Amino acid sequence: MNATPLADLSADDLAALLHEQQAAYEELKAKGLSLDLTRGKPSAQQLDLSDRLLQLPSTTRSASGVDVRNYGGLEGLKELREMFAELLWVEPEQLVAGGSSSLTMMRECLVDLVLFGGVDSERPWGQEEKVRFVCPVPGYDRHFTLLESLGIEMLTVPMDDDGPDAEAVAALVADDPTIKGMWVVPTYANPTGAVVTQEVAARLTSMPTAAPDFKIFWDNAYALHHLTEDEAKSADVLTLASAAGHPHRPIMFASTSKITYAGAGVAFLAASTDNVAWYLRHLGNGSIGPDKVNHLRHVEFFGTPQGVRDHMVKHREIIAPKFAEVDRVLTERLGGRGVATWNTPAGGYFVNLDVVPGTASRVVELAREAGVALTPAGSSFPYKQDPDDTNIRLAPTMPPVAEVTGAMEAVATCVLLAAAEKASQ
Ligand code: PLP
Repeated sequence: MNATPLADLSADDLAALLHEQQAAYEELKAKGLSLDLTRGKPSAQQLDLSDRLLQLPSTTRSASGVDVRNYGGLEGLKELREMFAELLWVEPEQLVAGGSSSLTMMRECLVDLVLFGGVDSERPWGQEEKVRFVCPVPGYDRHFTLLESLGIEMLTVPMDDDGPDAEAVAALVADDPTIKGMWVVPTYANPTGAVVTQEVAARLTSMPTAAPDFKIFWDNAYALHHLTEDEAKSADVLTLASAAGHPHRPIMFASTSKITYAGAGVAFLAASTDNVAWYLRHLGNGSIGPDKVNHLRHVEFFGTPQGVRDHMVKHREIIAPKFAEVDRVLTERLGGRGVATWNTPAGGYFVNLDVVPGTASRVVELAREAGVALTPAGSSFPYKQDPDDTNIRLAPTMPPVAEVTGAMEAVATCVLLAAAEKASQ
């Protein structure tokens, strides 16, 4: 392996490298690959772990005596809320168990804020001239498309290793009342894997905001999704916000989409009791109660909060080798070349790959032509615009390990070729 940084190569050596990578790429294309690293989905093997759900629940009544087949209980089944309150470090009365998608709950909250305003709003957001959100980047593409669909403008701040750049956020929100909220994926963020520290969480919950009804959409989608034995604990955002005098600022979301079934899990919302009452009041206009059969099924399946943690270890055993393989191939093929940096996440579903600025779109195009589907460059930025054209999100959980290896070998070739092309221009 020649690990000389591209920038240090002589013109002749660079020409040789370009030639070598072009040949490697032609070989790659000739293999007729059909591989896919775009989908942040659990693999079938992971979904199989939860198949006992299909035989549950064993009864129609919960321990607290609720007939789960009937209407009612908008806030969700008590036993399931108690179980997940412990896992998410909130009080049961602060937690709602809903349908299968937390993204739907996020959309409901945003739509309610736009139409009606929140518990601390002067008027509905829809009556403001302009509403803007702070978006740490790179971030989750669906957060951005959701805001775009509602006409909410986006301002970006960097997502650092300890969470969003809190000083940049604080500076933006201090004097601008049009900035009504921000996204935070606090644990093993999509796609950087960052974990928000206690200090950053404290800053975000305590910072003065010009908007009295500023909201932190605290999307804890990967709260329990550890890839190592060193399990990160999410900051206790509700307590921090309450202690700072802003109890209604955070709304937390989570789900079992990547714990049990991505299409038939349970989603959760946690917030101040006033925020919970606000959410349920609006929800109640369109629902007489959630799917409590599914709630009870999940209670029986896990048994205890520890049952959930134990179950997550089984997920880890399946997917950690895939992440290790991504790192191995990237290190072996690109290490020392000065053409890419990437993270080795301790949890979550993604690897964040930064290639030579100006080449991410080219890498994705080269990979597509060689039969490897990658998430389109720019996807992790608002309006799909990565100003540096450098970021690529890799999702290795879905394919089997052997396919991850093949796809990553191909990605490495494409990254090197695109970098050599650029350096030769
Ligand atoms: N939030 C983040 C950060 C995600 O990455 C995802 C899925 O990839 C979701 C939310 C979707 O959650 P749910 O399945 O509960 O709608």
